[in-house]
Amino acid sequence: MKVTILGCGGSAGVPMIGGEEGPRTGIWGACDPMEPRNRRTRSSVVIEGEGGFRLLVDSGPDFRDQMLNCGLSHVHAVLYTHPHSDHIGGLDELRAINRVIGTPLPLLATPDVLEELRLRYAYAFAPWKGPEFYRPVFEERVVQEGKSVSFPGLDIQIFEQGHGRITSLGVRCGTFAYSTDVETLSDEALSTLNGVQTWIVDCFQHDPHPAHAWLERVLQWRERLGVRHVILTHMGPEMDYRSLCQMLPAGVEPAYDGMLLNLQD
Ligand SMILES: [Zn+2]
Repeated sequence: MKVTILGCGGSAGVPMIGGEEGPRTGIWGACDPMEPRNRRTRSSVVIEGEGGFRLLVDSGPDFRDQMLNCGLSHVHAVLYTHPHSDHIGGLDELRAINRVIGTPLPLLATPDVLEELRLRYAYAFAPWKGPEFYRPVFEERVVQEGKSVSFPGLDIQIFEQGHGRITSLGVRCGTFAYSTDVETLSDEALSTLNGVQTWIVDCFQHDPHPAHAWLERVLQWRERLGVRHVILTHMGPEMDYRSLCQMLPAGVEPAYDGMLLNLQD
């Protein structure tokens, strides 16, 4: 299995718009503008099974650039973790995927998220006569927390995560799991994560946050679960790449855009 981290930034990316104008403009916070791994687009991953089936998890506003930068031409399905704009804002770009694969794209989401998507992107959910893809076209598949979904060579368990006032979906495939936009994990979610060896997890900042995990919380979860390899994602401008590399315990590292994980199962 292969996992490509398309983006690992918070909702406004790093740097955020603003700051001094010039080649390194933007609000960088504690991030060193000279370190290329501090330049983060919105969080999303592509999970690829042994047979080559690719599941995209979220399509944020940077989706087009992310696919081009990572050298990926297509995916076979998309799953939305929750309907915040930094995770769905690239939905329109998926028409390019329709054109490559030549069919409607399977779209996996809970009933609530599907309703929100239909409201915000009504044109993309109107009846499609084909054969052209002037707008994205989906084949909707309802998923539920606590259930599994199977694709050729890729079995996925879906679990619920607390994300401030709403919930999001976490996904587990074999001994890999992806938990973006999470602040609390129930005992049920933690039991789904039991046995995971490689875990990409939300870590927005060093200090506590009402909707996102922070460093101490992530390290506590890791301790409890005994995860071998933890990769931090959804990082805001307070998370400097090289400072993190120096301070994090062995087995925990910050992600960077374009990071590729080759996993054994
Ligand atoms: Zn969110």
